[in-house]
Amino acid sequence: MHNNKKLTLNAPLSGPVVKLSHVPDDVFSSAVMGDGIGIDPLNDCLFAPCDGVVVHVAKTAHALTLRAENGAELLMHLGIDTFELQGEGFELLVKNGAQVYSGQPLIRFDLDYIAQRCKSLIRLLVLTNGEQFELQFLEQSTAQVGEPLLHVVARQAVGTPEATDNPSLQAQGSVRITHKGGLHARPAALVRQTALGFKSASRLHIGANSAPCDSIVRLLALGISEQDEVQVSCEGEDADAALQAILAALGKVRSVPAPHVSAPAPIRASNQPGQLSGVCAAPGLVSGPLFYLTGVQLPPDLGNYIPEQQILALNTALEQVRGEIQLTLIAARAQRRVDEEAIFATHLALLEDSALLQASHIAIAQGRGAAHAWSEAIEQQCTILKSLGSTLLAERSNDLRDLQQRVLRALLGESGQCQLPPGAIVAAFELTPSDLLMLCEQNVAGLCMAAGGATSHVAILARGKGLPCLVALGREVLDLPDGQHLVLDADNARLELAPTAERIEQVRQTTLARQQRFARQQVHAHEPALTRDGLHIEIAANVASSHDAASAHANGADGVGLLRTEFLFVDRSTAPNEQEQITAYQDVLDAMGDKPVIIRTIDVGGDKQLDYLPLPDEANPVLGLRGIRLAQLHPQVLDRQLRALLQVSPTQRCRILLPMITEVDELLHIRQQLDALCIELGLSERPQLGVMIEVPAAALMAEQLAEHADFLSIGTNDLSQYTLAMDRDHAGLAARVDALHPALLRLIAHTCAGAALHQRWVGVCGALASDPLATPVLIGLGVRELSVSPLQIGEIKDRVRQLDAGMCQSISKTLLNLSSAGAVREACRQHWPFSD
Ligand code: PEP
Ligand code: MG
Repeated sequence: MHNNKKLTLNAPLSGPVVKLSHVPDDVFSSAVMGDGIGIDPLNDCLFAPCDGVVVHVAKTAHALTLRAENGAELLMHLGIDTFELQGEGFELLVKNGAQVYSGQPLIRFDLDYIAQRCKSLIRLLVLTNGEQFELQFLEQSTAQVGEPLLHVVARQAVGTPEATDNPSLQAQGSVRITHKGGLHARPAALVRQTALGFKSASRLHIGANSAPCDSIVRLLALGISEQDEVQVSCEGEDADAALQAILAALGKVRSVPAPHVSAPAPIRASNQPGQLSGVCAAPGLVSGPLFYLTGVQLPPDLGNYIPEQQILALNTALEQVRGEIQLTLIAARAQRRVDEEAIFATHLALLEDSALLQASHIAIAQGRGAAHAWSEAIEQQCTILKSLGSTLLAERSNDLRDLQQRVLRALLGESGQCQLPPGAIVAAFELTPSDLLMLCEQNVAGLCMAAGGATSHVAILARGKGLPCLVALGREVLDLPDGQHLVLDADNARLELAPTAERIEQVRQTTLARQQRFARQQVHAHEPALTRDGLHIEIAANVASSHDAASAHANGADGVGLLRTEFLFVDRSTAPNEQEQITAYQDVLDAMGDKPVIIRTIDVGGDKQLDYLPLPDEANPVLGLRGIRLAQLHPQVLDRQLRALLQVSPTQRCRILLPMITEVDELLHIRQQLDALCIELGLSERPQLGVMIEVPAAALMAEQLAEHADFLSIGTNDLSQYTLAMDRDHAGLAARVDALHPALLRLIAHTCAGAALHQRWVGVCGALASDPLATPVLIGLGVRELSVSPLQIGEIKDRVRQLDAGMCQSISKTLLNLSSAGAVREACRQHWPFSD
């Protein structure tokens, strides 16, 4: 029921009234959620401001939407960022759908508890369907529960793009897309997932085009780019709540690239006779016989099908593929293969896509067979994606082809398995993610494709599996005779088509020598690494999960030098709670036997964003609120993580590392906080606390930091980016972002000297630690711990054993005076040649 009567809202709380524009939250203060008012509460219970029905309650009990009898929808939000509390400190007194009366208690809350953990206690009352109603404020500085606070009056009739008989059930809003790369498959899947959580039907509009939010393919087909302004319209009983959730998913969330598997800088070789040049999607050098992988061939469509039977056949095939993907997901999840999990979770959502199903059903109703109907529905969408002019979206059509092939195989009863010659180089027009998983099980040597790109899902998976892969080789790769022996030199982005017997032998020898060297190094990987003159260098591992830690331990790591805890926080819709974190960290400690584990506090911001932790848009994100600076914005996130870290055992084996520190006060603040938490948790000792040296300011302040830190760990990836003023992910600058630049070496030397004044040790956990050419330099400059990728532990230990620390020290000093990274590299090769 909706009417034009003026509705009076009574104060739901007592306390000083705060203007919406003064509320310390960008989203609310900018009124994107709607007009409203804030109250700084003095009481501990939220009361209904009028009669109405509860139309939405947050699972975390910190917010509730009430629909008044006149149709006005009122969001009552308790505190800022209180969703982080996951319901702790709130007691919900009513249920979704309940009829409530003015003055009825709705939510009781613990003011002290929330005050200690959240940014602000201010409670908000926001009108979320402001297109139909407006607020009239009664000028008063203090609110008293039950006393008149505001009036709500109906606006004059408002036009909407899709007007219905019941305008109060509609909501509209607009937002700028901040997803890196635009609205591609993973963010589209997130929007769909969000939309499915509500009863309302939601659509996304851009210009004259629109798509339902429950269809990934139709969202993708809008071709929405980063920074595009889009509109969202929702229609249904929970339209406002749906709108807010979808706007948040579109505007605030960026998908996070897995921090440990980044795309290599695209290398393309120039064409030479006897070679095809392509783009390196995953590095390596291999030789082997060519094997073509072809897709399923569609049999002719004979027509005259019975639609009911075809629908049943399609549904059975979809169910089979769904089951297969679910098994893949379980395995990926169990082994924390984050990329693989995200890719196949999107496939699962695509399989249920309403646009694909609808198109298939229509074709079947017109007499097509299920196989043709499904295949054509996919082709139509692929054509649209390819026509949008976005490489990223065009690459995503390969995911659709993957599903096309899988469902066709299920419909036609084909297994998809094939017999490959040993050590084959597999070629295809374009392989799909599931082809890749199947091929990995068959021990192929390498992959090459006529099409594809270095950022495709197949490329991401190939890198994660260490399988050399070339893409974009052109159609010529499909004309080579099956079985022909090739050399796939992904390192140099070329496919050698007619390698001589000598060349094949050379590649074979190189590969064999690498394997033998690796095997030799593995024999001593579990022994300590001592230089020839007896200096012990700790060789630890960089890990992102307990699975990685187990691999590091098996490969001889002396400890974990860097656990990037972001893995626990990304690709989820809510923050991990304290217990989840304790379990995850404890698993890593347990996987490492009796070795120490350095756990870095969450390092998001910059290009790493979290779905549930909106960060402000920034002009220069890598210079913005990232790393430890997140504590400034969301102190409760760091607080919860520190609490979890203090609860793993034994404390002596757990070391805490702080990212992106630039000044001593940041360290002192966390130290004090840790000390306070130790008292609160009844702990007699706290874990060692270290600081990452990854901005030049920290390197220059190393002495001052070392006075208060237990150890320093140099992050050469960021230190290079900030010292050289070159984006570490800039494809065109990739070769120049070299941490062996003399400027970096000077900062490392300065860091070690500063730490030595306070008898603190220095480690390196950036990628430079894994570069054997750099090992003597780092030891010479004073580094005593190197944290490397798990598979390189044996290699780096072997390198250490060939060195004389005294000599490293004297030669390294001279390198500081060289003119460039190239000159340093050359000098290293001269002074410390590699021996087999
Ligand atoms: C670094 O910056 O060197 C580092 C180890 O941190 P990350 O690569 O996770 O930014
Ligand atoms: Mg870093």
